[in-house]
Amino acid sequence: MSDTNSILILPGDGIGAEVMAEVVKVIDWFQDNRGMAFTVDHDLVGGAAYDAHGKPLSDETMAKAQAVDAVLLGAVGGPKYDDLDFSLKPERGLLRLRKEMDLYANLRPAQCFDALADFSSLKREVVAGLDILIVRELTSGIYFGQPRGIEDDTSEGNEGGRVGINTQRYTSGEIRRVARSAFELAKKRDNRVCSMEKANVMESGILWRQEVQWVHDNEYPDVELSHMYADNGAMQLVRNPRQFDVIVTDNLFGDILSDAAAMLTGSLGMLPSASLGAPMANGRPKALYEPVHGSAPDITGQGKANPIACILSFAMALRYSFDRGDAASELEAAVEKVLADGLRTADLTGPGGGDAISTSQMGDSIVAA
Ligand code: ATP
Ligand code: MG
Repeated sequence: MSDTNSILILPGDGIGAEVMAEVVKVIDWFQDNRGMAFTVDHDLVGGAAYDAHGKPLSDETMAKAQAVDAVLLGAVGGPKYDDLDFSLKPERGLLRLRKEMDLYANLRPAQCFDALADFSSLKREVVAGLDILIVRELTSGIYFGQPRGIEDDTSEGNEGGRVGINTQRYTSGEIRRVARSAFELAKKRDNRVCSMEKANVMESGILWRQEVQWVHDNEYPDVELSHMYADNGAMQLVRNPRQFDVIVTDNLFGDILSDAAAMLTGSLGMLPSASLGAPMANGRPKALYEPVHGSAPDITGQGKANPIACILSFAMALRYSFDRGDAASELEAAVEKVLADGLRTADLTGPGGGDAISTSQMGDSIVAA
């Protein structure tokens, strides 16, 4: 294990900067109290980068992101940038990072903290005890396959005369590498992977199933593997979500299934994510960690943002980039404790939910815990 841990912090726009300030407190705590050495650099992405130099991500920032162990990103975007040309939009900065770092495995944990399991204060239902991890293939599949486009189609009976085309295309190599990510992650969890596709109606689904099975049989025979059609998977996620540990699936199905699973856990302000690529020279994967939520312009600057999603994203960095699952668990336990103590940011309070605390009070409380 290398003894320095390099981090590039890209707070971005809106509440991104507010929640990231709390993560910095957490990083400092681990430096001061757990003897971990971090080198931390800060830079701009999204609208903030556009304001500074007319691009949502500079080449210099891109180069830094390629060189560090982990990129921590807040959020990008905001109404101020709505009228910008597509190529200059804040979101393009994030897309460039994902593409050039080749982050093919998107990890979305759906974990329900016990303290929030009483859904009465949340105005919505959550699933107590839920702890699953969805691994979504992020760089291929129907969102990228060629041919694509909207074309004229004058075939008889086609009212409107046009056709929209997308192509689902997966190579065996693309499937194997994301399958490996899923099996590796399962080994650090409950050792079970469920792979989801539509092998009953799609060629890419048949290949997906065969290649995931191949990686299992040849490299991870000790991890339990099951296969499920994605439509049944959606049904099972709602019916009995606790049956799953790691789910691995393609880009399109993963987009839908991970959003559905996320909402079984509570608030958007609680959900972390990681996007991982191939191992670098030091053995660590290329990695970008970010909360699932966006820049939340409606609450920016009011101290209302929940920093937990961003803090839990750093916990994922501790586990997957810095190989410190112990520290990650310690941080997650601190989050659990403050929630159990009844501390709530505004998004976690409902009618009768009590007084909300601010973003920085939540960060300070987690550090104290
Ligand atoms: P984007 O397009 O950037 O994904 P969005 O409109 O989909 O943005 P968010 O910016 O994530 O979504 O905001 C959706 C809603 O959730 C908003 O009302 C916002 O205030 C709320 N929200 C998002 N993140 C948080 C957070 N960390 N704490 C509290 N509320 C949040
Ligand atoms: Mg959104």
